[in-house]
Amino acid sequence: MSLFTKLVVVSLPIIPKSIVRLVAQRYIAGPHLVDAVAVTKDLMARGASSTIDVLGEFVSSRERAIADTAIQASVIDAIHGNGLASYLSVKLTSLGLDIDHDFAYENVSSLVKKAAALGVFVRMDMENTPYTDITLDFYRRLRRDGHNNVGVVIQAYLRRSEADVLSLLAYDPSVRLCKGIYVESEDHAFKDPEEIRSSYRSLLRLLLSAKGQTHIATHDEALIVDAEKLLAERLLPKERYEFEMLLGVREDRRNILIRNGHPVRIYVPFGEDWYGYSTRRLKENPQVAGYVAKAILTGRG
Ligand SMILES: Cc1cc2nc3c(=O)[nH]c(=O)nc-3n(C[C@H](O)[C@H](O)[C@H](O)COP(=O)(O)OP(=O)(O)OC[C@H]3O[C@@H](n4cnc5c(N)ncnc54)[C@H](O)[C@@H]3O)c2cc1C
Repeated sequence: MSLFTKLVVVSLPIIPKSIVRLVAQRYIAGPHLVDAVAVTKDLMARGASSTIDVLGEFVSSRERAIADTAIQASVIDAIHGNGLASYLSVKLTSLGLDIDHDFAYENVSSLVKKAAALGVFVRMDMENTPYTDITLDFYRRLRRDGHNNVGVVIQAYLRRSEADVLSLLAYDPSVRLCKGIYVESEDHAFKDPEEIRSSYRSLLRLLLSAKGQTHIATHDEALIVDAEKLLAERLLPKERYEFEMLLGVREDRRNILIRNGHPVRIYVPFGEDWYGYSTRRLKENPQVAGYVAKAILTGRG
């Protein structure tokens, strides 16, 4: 990362929101559910599927958590009603996890039940380490309660992830494997990019050798090449895996994966609460400095 890019990244909190919004547009479908539906239809025409995410996290009032749960329920209806190749991604903190665990469990299980009735799948995103145990507990509880249309996420940067994967295998789980996006301490997480890659590779091998479905969520070229090789060696059928990418990131590579015959799913966030999600994406983007400079100079993203 150049010095200028680093400077832009540390300055993001003081860059006017209007500029951040311009640059961030590429990562978000738009403010409304109809935007996510339209983006999904476009992706389907290109041979991909989507997972829809309602932007918003770390909710601290019951009213807001109830309202967010209702919006997520409307996503399930929209997926079903429009015949979309899509599933719901949900953050437990948006359903009230910080308020009361039982309340959040009620909310997520109501969504999973509704989704099951309509043939829709639900995945719980993985947030930062204060929520890892409880998210995995919710997953196991949902499965024990007989819900099979639910999946979870494993973050390769966490030192605990191998043990977590081993603890999940008995469920033949649907697991999205990603590197992990939150800032974690060295006690919890690998910091060296090569160590994170190496962890990703060994977790992927572990997941692919078990039953269940693995979603390979990365834009890292080395990991994608490695995964494609592994899938070919193991002759893994398409029902057992997918590649997942974020909206607006490495679209050329996405198209190559589709052309190579792999199932590809795109994470499609929508909503008004775009700032936290967008700044996380911008910090990962090697071109962020150029985009911000362009938006400042031209007023366009
Ligand atoms: C579908 C999906 C779901 C996810 N769900 C979760 C989750 O539940 N919990 C969680 O902690 N994390 C989640 N993540 C985020 C993930 O953990 C990483 O932060 C993110 O994907 C970047 O890691 P990477 O593997 O792409 O590798 P990186 O090393 O970050 O990126 C590899 C390359 O991809 C390109 N790239 C990456 N990001 C951008 C960008 N924003 N703009 C332009 N180019 C970019 C660059 O060329 C970069 O060199 C998810 C990611 C995906 C794809």
